Amino acid sequence: MIIGVPKEIKNNENRVALTPAGAQELLKAGHTVYVQSTAGLGSGFEDAEYVSAGASILPTIEEVYDIAEMIMKVKEPIEAEYPLIKENQLVFTYFHFASYEPLTKAMVESKSVCLAYETVEKADRSLPLLVPMSEVAGRMAIQEGAKYLEKPLKGRGILLGGVPGVRPAKVLILGGGVVGTNAAKIAAGMGADVTIMDINLPRLRYLDDVMPANVNTFMSNEYNIRELIGTHDLIVGAVLIPGAKAPHLITKDMLKDMRPGTVLVDVAVDQGGCIETCKPTTHQDPTYVIDDVLHYCVANMPGAVPYTSTLALTNATLPYALQLANKGWQKACKENLELKLGLNIIKGEIVYQAVGEAFNLPY
Ligand code: NAD
Repeated sequence: MIIGVPKEIKNNENRVALTPAGAQELLKAGHTVYVQSTAGLGSGFEDAEYVSAGASILPTIEEVYDIAEMIMKVKEPIEAEYPLIKENQLVFTYFHFASYEPLTKAMVESKSVCLAYETVEKADRSLPLLVPMSEVAGRMAIQEGAKYLEKPLKGRGILLGGVPGVRPAKVLILGGGVVGTNAAKIAAGMGADVTIMDINLPRLRYLDDVMPANVNTFMSNEYNIRELIGTHDLIVGAVLIPGAKAPHLITKDMLKDMRPGTVLVDVAVDQGGCIETCKPTTHQDPTYVIDDVLHYCVANMPGAVPYTSTLALTNATLPYALQLANKGWQKACKENLELKLGLNIIKGEIVYQAVGEAFNLPY
């Protein structure tokens, strides 16, 4: 199969869908890989590295779309890319169709085959192509939180790990899923006093078993959250209710119970946030202060660490890309239900229920 990797053109997107190592694996399996010039640069991969892995470089995005049977991308296509996508072309990327009707309509009109990273689903209902970004965001939440706890950045002026003779900072993590677990690991490693809250008791039992001694678990409910917010320095929002907006576990009135300089990192901002006062921010202007409480609510946290994010994402996507390239999308999806669930639009037809329902379109 001929695989094309265009350069991402969405604002501030530095990731790339394939690393030179990934290109080499596809080439070894007998496929041809075309990468747009400088596509990997934002993640630290030069054109020459792709060439030495055996891929070919094309100068323009038009040439990549023109030649490829399968396009591998990171972000959903933006308006400028709609006309480049061809009938019958397989496009393997994050789409998030349900949140943007013009994209859905454009892809229906393109008559391409759209296989969305975010709906590839394993039998245990986990989403293997979303997990890597949650891992990155969870770990980053503590790195960012620790930084913003510094006084010059408007935080309380407390060092996460403390020092001998001085107690460490207290970190409260709402939600013990992928983001929350990764945040807890880093916070614990830095020596903080960590509490994870979740509503899922088996999950709390598991976390209690595997986490180090400076991580405690606590049932998530309003009473318990109110008990802890006044004594915790860094609070991470990491809640997810699949397919729904995040519940507001921290309401505006609770801010007055927090100490000045408390830092809130709401990773769940992309689902509306689990902190009522959260509104999406960017890496250029990541924070704001309400009632002396600092809010960090960047909606695409992994975008700040494109090297790590690209490697994490491609580790997860490559096995699926190989199946698609080796067998063609029809056979690959027939033989692997995980991949089949990734199919959202096939040659003008919406085949993913939630996408059709989102816009009252036939599916
Ligand atoms: P996950 O499904 O692995 O974990 C969510 C956890 O929340 C589950 O353990 C669930 O039991 C728990 N939960 C549900 N309701 C709760 C409640 N009332 N109180 C406490 N816990 C509750 O999800 P995840 O992969 O960890 O993702 C968490 C959020 O982070 C999602 O909204 C995801 O979209 C977001 N995210 C954001 C970024 C970013 O850049 N901002 C990046 C990756 C993920």
